[in-house]
Parts: sequence; structure tokens; C-alpha cells
Amino acid sequence: MTQTVQLDAENPFATPSALPFQLPPFGDVREEHFLPAFEAGMAEQLAEVQAITANTEAPTFANTVEALERSGQLLERTAAVFFTLSSGDATPGIDAIEAEIGPRLTAHEDSITLNRALFARIQSVYDAREEAELTDEQRFLVEKLHRNASLAGAGLDDASSARLRELNSRLAELEVQFDQKLQADSNALALVVDSAEELAGLDESAISAASAAAEARGLTGKYLISLVLFTGHPLLSTLTNRETRRKLFEASSARGSRGGDHDTRATALEMVRVRAERARLLGFENHAEAAAAKSTAGSASAIRARLEQLSTPAAANARREQEVLQATIDAEQAAIGEPSFALEPWDWAFYTEKVRARDYAVDTSQMRPFFEANAVLENGVFYAANQLFGVTFTHRPELRGHHADAVVYEVSNEDGTEVGLFSLDLYTRDSKRGGAWMNSVIQQNRLLGEPTVVLNTLNVPKPAEGSPTLLTFDEVETLFHEFGHALHGLFALVDYPSLGGTNVPRDFVEYPSQVNEMWMLWPEVLRTYAKHHETGEPLSEELVERLLDSASFNEGFGTSEYLAASVIDLEWHSLSPEEAAEVSDVEAFEQQVLQRYGLDLPAVPPRYTLPYFQHIFAGGYSAGYYGYIWSEVLDAATVDWFAEQAELDGGLRAAGEKFRRSILEPGGSRDAMSLVVDLLGGPAPIEPLLKRRGLQ
Ligand SMILES: [Zn+2]
Repeated sequence: MTQTVQLDAENPFATPSALPFQLPPFGDVREEHFLPAFEAGMAEQLAEVQAITANTEAPTFANTVEALERSGQLLERTAAVFFTLSSGDATPGIDAIEAEIGPRLTAHEDSITLNRALFARIQSVYDAREEAELTDEQRFLVEKLHRNASLAGAGLDDASSARLRELNSRLAELEVQFDQKLQADSNALALVVDSAEELAGLDESAISAASAAAEARGLTGKYLISLVLFTGHPLLSTLTNRETRRKLFEASSARGSRGGDHDTRATALEMVRVRAERARLLGFENHAEAAAAKSTAGSASAIRARLEQLSTPAAANARREQEVLQATIDAEQAAIGEPSFALEPWDWAFYTEKVRARDYAVDTSQMRPFFEANAVLENGVFYAANQLFGVTFTHRPELRGHHADAVVYEVSNEDGTEVGLFSLDLYTRDSKRGGAWMNSVIQQNRLLGEPTVVLNTLNVPKPAEGSPTLLTFDEVETLFHEFGHALHGLFALVDYPSLGGTNVPRDFVEYPSQVNEMWMLWPEVLRTYAKHHETGEPLSEELVERLLDSASFNEGFGTSEYLAASVIDLEWHSLSPEEAAEVSDVEAFEQQVLQRYGLDLPAVPPRYTLPYFQHIFAGGYSAGYYGYIWSEVLDAATVDWFAEQAELDGGLRAAGEKFRRSILEPGGSRDAMSLVVDLLGGPAPIEPLLKRRGLQ
């Protein structure tokens, strides 16, 4: 039995917002509003689900699937505001609410997904979907709902269901264990050196930071360098002392595999076995197949084929790069009359920087005075969107975002009709988590007649009062990238809330945002926004040319180390439970995998290996690390398509319109790969990616 909790009418979540575009009334929300609204919201949704399952009429799309899509509106309103604040402006009070409500929300969602009676109704709507008169979107929704519930185990019998719960809770424990062991070993392996000379090559601020870090551990007078997540440490490119480089690299690669309490290998191997058993319980051959069922790739063999296709040219390119680096070492050693030495993995980044400085002198820091934030936003990001889609942006200073720094714009179509609200929260602060992201505050859908409100968040240091905000090259790229996600949300045009905007598979979601990065250096866009903030002088085109020329530099290395980690992830998760139980030598298994793909390059180690592969053992990316390059194939093909279309009669405006209708408007309401076929007239070719990464 569920009890309906009545929410105080004074609570701002009690009714939909009356502000333009249902913008949440951020100014009226106080911390004490959240818990009662969450509780009432969960109770309301449980009552709604109970009404669906108690219905004595035969299950139909309308009385089951559509009714489910209508449920949980109060919870949705509350969660959208809460998670906007918990990521963008968290107070200790918000953190405490999150710790309390997080597990309860997960349990609430599980209680709906794994509800037997509800799943039985979804199953019968699913079985009758071909005979029922459904729109394409309705059929797609039924199939998605059915698939997600099946993959979560909703259709299992009692015994299997009990075993699934055991496996899931064991995996949750192992994930925490892996994370804690890895963290402990990373701390234990941080590099400690006795003298500043050993850190030659680092600038003063890095050396004093290393001294302070040692001090903080009670190692007064010494210097400490912490390890980063991936194999290659960023400081390897600048440390001139070869012995220090070797120690840093070896510490990094040793994490989780030294025996003792911090060894992660047994934990990770058990996770591999448990995931394989869980996949079998759900009717799949292995975990990679189960994960692929929700992706655009569709199957592990499709992923394997793509990785095989890329690994040979990437490895060949890395070998060519290695020859250039070796020649550089030989020449340098000869010049000082010393014997030469063979390039080792800890030398790669160091000599790469020398070659880059010699052959491709590009200093992107010179560009900063040309990247004033407001000009980048209005004359760059918005200008490109206007050229492509005809949309215009009106600043609405009277509308309050979730923080005083968040600016709000109204977005309109060329014919004046409404698109939605876009908000940007640019500046870093202590209450904001790191990184950059987009979130849908209100997700467009016709079912509930809801509009669109999207938010982009970045972490740009705030300048002193009265000084302009000058962005770095990377920050400009991030702004274009995140705005690509924002467009995905803004242009959504679907019937059902769970299908709009960025509700797409994990290996597809980065595609529109990666494409939008292309406009940053598109000559006409660049000329419009990149002007010196004091003199108005345009950015040197020659500098941009040199930058474009250097784009595929060192891509053999970058692609190979990434692919090596991707195939390691894929092959660990392609084992059956029996095969997984037989593997005991982690290093030998991975070496065999790398050999099979032609990626066994001693000087180019994988970006991650099992003992410290946090993405796949504690980060939700298991059997999914390939996704970055999967969506980049689509991105590169679409960038080439735009360049071709720009030359045609309709120019960019017609191409933009087609991109909007084919990719952005449908969001997750249709099969993702069919959207790409709709745009490009066929599957995305791989050649544009090979060209971009210098892999032809
Ligand atoms: Zn992104």
C-alpha cells in the first residue's frame, strides 16, 4: 500500500512553475523544500504506478506505457532543480540531502523497473505492438522500455531474480573495493624525490607545489608528485631528468599490481566473472554483448570490427612517429658526444614536445586576448547557430537562473516562434563540481506540453572585478562542445519525455557536441568573434593555419594508446563465466589481446590496463570505453558532409536545417544509426576519421 503524502501548497515544487517556459522559480527555492518534495514526489509516482497495475482493463499503450510516461511529474520537477544545484552550487545542506536521497531514489527507480505486475503489462503491450495502431515513436518507446526492463532483469523467475540481486550487490561492493584499493596504491606510489634538481624542467610553481605536497605528508625537505589516472603522466613531457621520468612512469604502471592489500587484480577479475554470470542470467553470451544491446553499435562483434579496422593503421603511424623520435634522440646525443639510447615509454612525451616545438611552433596562449567570453558566446557560438539554423538569442536579464552568474537567453526560430530557454553558468566556484556539462532543466515533450530549458555549465576562473573574461583555446572549444549538447536539448521535438534530446545511447551522445566544435575554427565564424578585446584586431589567420596543420601530430600514439585500452576493456568483458574463471595471469592475457590487434608496441603502453582501469571497474564504462571513437567516426563524417554542403546552393543554412531535422529534433525517439543514414544518405564512412587522425 502506498500512502499519498500531501505537499504543502507553499512549497515551490507543488505546482508547475508559472514563469516563462516553466523556468523553475530558483529564487523561491530553499533547502528545506527538497526533502518533502522528494518524498511526496516518490509517493505520488508509486501511487500512479499502482493505479496502472491495478487497472482491470487489458493492457494498452495508453493505459500502461503512456500512463507511465505521465507519472512522476512532481518528482521530476524536484529532481531537475535539485541536481542542477547539487552539481552547480552545492551547499553543505544540499550535500547532506544528496547523501540521504541518492540511495532512496535508486531504490525508488528499481521498484518501478523491477515491478512484476508492471512488467507483465509492458510485456503484453510489447507482444501486441505490431497489431496495435502505434506511431513509430510509440512503438520505439515500447521497445526501449521493454529492453531496458529486461536488461535490468524484470522478466526473470524467482530463483534467477534472487541470484541477480546477489550478483548486483556483490558488484556494488567490489566496485567500492576496487576504487579504495586503487586510491590507496596511487597515494602509496606517489613519486618522492630528495632534491629539486631531480625535478629539472618543471617551472617554479610546480616545484613549490611538489615541495608543499611532500610537507603535507610530513616529508619536509622532499618533493612529491601525485599520480594521475592514466598511464602517461603529464609531467613526463617536461621532466629533463631521464631517471625521474623512468621512476614516475614505473610507479604509474605498477598501481594495483604489487601484491598485498592494495592489489586490485583479484577484485577486478572477480568483477569480470560476476558480470559474465549476470550477462548469462539475462540471456547474453557475455557482458560485452549485454552492454552492446543498449548501444548504437548493437553487438560486440560490430565494436570489435571497428577497433580492428583502426588498430593496424594507428600502430603503423605510431611506429613512424617512434622513428622520428629515435632520430631526434640519436642526433641530440651525437651533438653532445654521448652514446645514444633506445626510446622507452617514459621518453615518448618528452621528445614529442621537442619535435612539436621544432616542426609545429604553435603557442595557443597567444590567442587568449582574442577570446573575450561574451564575444565568443554571442558572436561565435550563437552566430554559428544563427547561420546554420536561423535561430536568434535574446538576453532575458529579468529571468533568474540557478545562480547569480547564470545568464538566461530566450531562443527563437527564424519565423519568430519559440524554441526555449538557454542558460550559461560560466564561472568556477567552490560550490561547483569540476568539468563542463549540459543538463536539461525541462525536457520538451508534446505529451505534457512541456517547453525546453537547457543549461550549460563550465569552469572558467572568474577575473577580477572590471577585467574582461579571456578564454583559453581549450575553454572556447569546450563552450562550442557543450553548446552542441544544448542544441540537442533545445531542438528536441518529440511526443514522449523519456525520448527527447540527449536521451540517446552512450556511444551516440557525444556526436552532436563533437560536431559543433567544428564551428570554432570555421573561417567565417572565427572572423566574426575572434577579435582582440582591446584593439579589435582580428586573430592571425596564419596562426590558425599552423594550428590546423599540427592537428594530426602525435595522433598515432594518441590513437594507439586509446585503442589498446578499448580492446582490453572489450576482451575482458567478452569472456564467458567459465573462460573468466580460468584466467589468472592478467598481464599475459592482456599481452595476448594486444598482439591479436597488432597493438603490442613496447614504447606505446595502453592508456589503462586492468589493475588501474577505473572507468570500467568503478566508473560505469564497462565494455563502453570504445564509445569515444565510435561517436568520433560519426562526427568526422558529418564535419566533411557540412564542408561539402557549404559549397552548394543552399549553403550552411540548408545543411543546418537538415542536421536539425535528421539528428537533433528526433533525439532518442528513433534508432540512432537510422538518423545518421537519414542525414548522410548511408552509413557514416570511416575515411574522414582516418584522415583527421592521420591514419590513411
Ligand atoms: Zn560532451
